[in-house]
Amino acid sequence: MPTKPIIYSLTTMHESGMNRLHEAGQVRMATSLKPEVLHKEIVDADALVIRTAGDINAELMDHAPKLRVIGRHGVGYDQVDVPAATARGIQVVYTPGANTEAVAEHVFAMMIGVSKHFPKQSLAVDEYRHNDRTKLVGRDIFGKTLGIIGFGRIGRRVGAIAKLGFNMRVLYNDIVAAPIEIEERAGATRVSLDQILAESDYLTLHVPLDDSTRKLINAETLAKLKPNAVLINTCRGPVCDEHAVRDALESKHLFGYGADVYTVEPPEPGHPLIGRKDCMLTPHSAAQTIESLTNMATEVAVDVINVLAGRAPISPVNDPAEVAAVRKRLGKPPLTDALI
Ligand code: NAD
Repeated sequence: MPTKPIIYSLTTMHESGMNRLHEAGQVRMATSLKPEVLHKEIVDADALVIRTAGDINAELMDHAPKLRVIGRHGVGYDQVDVPAATARGIQVVYTPGANTEAVAEHVFAMMIGVSKHFPKQSLAVDEYRHNDRTKLVGRDIFGKTLGIIGFGRIGRRVGAIAKLGFNMRVLYNDIVAAPIEIEERAGATRVSLDQILAESDYLTLHVPLDDSTRKLINAETLAKLKPNAVLINTCRGPVCDEHAVRDALESKHLFGYGADVYTVEPPEPGHPLIGRKDCMLTPHSAAQTIESLTNMATEVAVDVINVLAGRAPISPVNDPAEVAAVRKRLGKPPLTDALI
C-alpha cells in the first residue's frame, strides 16, 4: 500500500477543504512563514497549499524535490513564481470564481459606504454627535457612470449588478474584449484607459497584479480621472500608488477611496491612507465570507488531490501539457502516473 502523500500547508482553511486533504494525505502545517523555516519543512512535500501569505519562489521550490503541485486557495497568484514552477514540472492550481460574489458585494459596500460617508457616520454615532446627520450629505450611486478596469469574472459580475441594481452606465477597460452577451448583461461598453478615466464617477479595479498593472493608478492617471470620482481597489495594492491616491484625496480631486488591499501587507504604521475618514478600508477581507471560504477550501483541496491522484486539474494556472513535457525532459515520473 503506497504511503500517503505529504501535503504541506502554509494555512488552515475551512473544514470542507481541510477534511478532504486529511483523507487524501498526511497534512503538515507550516510552523512559520520565515524562508529558513519553510526551506526545512517543505523538504518531503508532495503538495504545497497556500493562501495570500508566503513568497513561493524558485529557491523554495528547489528545497522540495518531490513537489508535484502548488494549490492556491484564492484567485490572485502573483506571489507564486509560475514560470519557476513550470520549469520544475510542478503543476499550479487555483480557485477561479470561488470568491467572485463575495468580492463583487464588497465593491458595492465600498462604493455605497464611501458615497454616504459611512466611516464618518459611524464615528458620529460612536461620539454621540447625532446632529451631524445633516452635515454628512452623501450621494447616490444610482444612474452614475461606473468604470471597471479588468473585465474578468469579478469585473463582469460588478458590471451586471451595477446595471440591474443601480441603473448605472457601465464602461470597461480590458486588454481583451468580452463576448457580446457578457457586455449586454452589464450594458457595458469597452473603452480606452483615457476615456474610462475621464468619464467614470466610480472606478473599480479588477486586474491581476503583473508588470502591465503595477502602479496603473498613479499621479498621472489620477489627474485624468473625472473630478469627484470614487476609486475602489479590491484587486491588489501595488496596482495603485497609495501616495498619489493620498495626494488626490488631499486636493479633493478624489471624493473618496475604498480599498481591501495594500502595497505592503500587512500595512505598516504611517501608511498614507489608514485613518483617513474619506477612505473605507478593510484588511484584505473581501473574500472572507462563509460561502467564499467554503468554495475556495473545497476547490483547492479537490484540485490538489486531482493532481496527486494523477487526474487532470480542473483549474490549472500553468499548462498541464507544458508541465508534462518538462517532467519528461527532466526524467521525473509523469503526474498522470501518480498514486494518491
Ligand atoms: P480574472 O482573471 O477573471 O479577470 C482579470 C481581468 O483583467 C481579465 O479580463 C484580464 O484580461 C484583465 N486584465 C489583465 N491585465 C490587464 C490590463 N493591463 N489592463 C486591463 N485589463 C487587464 O480575475 P478575477 O477573478 O476577476 O480577479 C481579479 C483580481 O482580483 C485577481 O487577480 C486578484 O488579484 C484580485 N482578487 C482579490 C480578492 C480579495 O480578497 N481582495 C479576491 C479575489 C480576487
